Amino acid sequence: MRVFIPRESLSSETRVALVPESVQKLTAMGIAVTIESGAGLNSYFLDTDYEKAGAQIVEDRASELGKADLVARVRKPPDAEVPLLKPGALHISFLDPFNEAELISAFASAGVTAISMEMIPRTTLAQKMDALSSQANLAGYFAVVKASERLNRILPMMMTPAGTISPSRVFVIGVGVAGLQAIATAKRMGARVEAFDTRPVVEEQVKSLGAKFVKIDLGDTGQTDQGYAKELTPEQIKMQQEGMAKICAQSDIVITTAKLFGRPAPKIVTEEMVSGMKFGSVIVDLAVESGGNVVGSKLDEEVQIKDGPRIIGIGALEDRVAVHASQMFSANIFNFIDHFWNEESKQITRDLEDEIFGGCVITDGGSIVHERFK
Ligand code: NAD
Repeated sequence: MRVFIPRESLSSETRVALVPESVQKLTAMGIAVTIESGAGLNSYFLDTDYEKAGAQIVEDRASELGKADLVARVRKPPDAEVPLLKPGALHISFLDPFNEAELISAFASAGVTAISMEMIPRTTLAQKMDALSSQANLAGYFAVVKASERLNRILPMMMTPAGTISPSRVFVIGVGVAGLQAIATAKRMGARVEAFDTRPVVEEQVKSLGAKFVKIDLGDTGQTDQGYAKELTPEQIKMQQEGMAKICAQSDIVITTAKLFGRPAPKIVTEEMVSGMKFGSVIVDLAVESGGNVVGSKLDEEVQIKDGPRIIGIGALEDRVAVHASQMFSANIFNFIDHFWNEESKQITRDLEDEIFGGCVITDGGSIVHERFK
């Protein structure tokens, strides 16, 4: 089997789908790995690091796309590159499948088996391949680092001969993987942390990290079978906003991570809540790529509200810590290959009935096979 890693097409993307450590593991399994020259540079991996790990460096992306049995990337490929893939090849990456109907059709027409990393089931068995979690963890961490760097105050309490500085207040809205890591990071940095999520099961997790869970009675909320939040009614969103306005006004940092799988993110922090926040405070909207939780947040921009907070709307914050983000994404890709590797045939077993494979395969054998996208 021949695996190819092209350079990422989005110029701002810093991650790479395979790091040299994983290349070494794949080559030890008898898999040939080719890397487009410079693919690892933004993650600080040199072509020579890949060569030492056993990879071959190639310059001609188009020709290699037509030879590889498996192509892995972080982001979805440009539409024009899909027809260049070899029929029957596997393509593994984030695909944003809910918004990419044309791309999915192109994969089907090209006869490519397309795997969407977003669709890996959130089960214990699949955890080692779960790139949404591995990347969200880092985004949650970096959201706090970024916010603290843009805040004009310190986070911890400090008792000094010149007086006592009280800890900064951090409010985390949405406590999934990113939210939990944001809480843990803010606590480690000494902040006073509060958090809210519509899934009541989260309360215990918030408390176990030493943060306070904000209780707002919204009536029936709950979660789906996969553990995702259910969409709130307009009345519930209004109740939530009223409950949160006071806490936002008291907070130095607000971090929002509330997403709804496959749908636009809910708008939680209103214009009024933003303008009620302190001058110099900071909001980080981690849901900005799927529409944003905060009115006024802009993708890849920092918006300063007059006499109010600055709103940071950087998409995929995890790519600011590219070394570890790549290391973790790469481990997810390696674990996927390793999990489905058939030692005898030296191929990946494509079992559409398998819970994990069937859960994340979008196209196969010339058609769209995933029920949600047919
Ligand atoms: P996500 O990124 O889809 O959403 C982030 C958080 O926002 C969620 O906790 C969600 O409940 C919350 N949210 C949505 N609407 C909200 C609103 N209006 N107000 C406040 N909060 C709101 O979530 P995620 O981090 O991908 O995690 C989703 C679920 O999957 C969680 O239950 C997580 O524990 C679970 N999970 C399980 C595994 C596993 O078992 N292997 C792995 C990863 C995640």
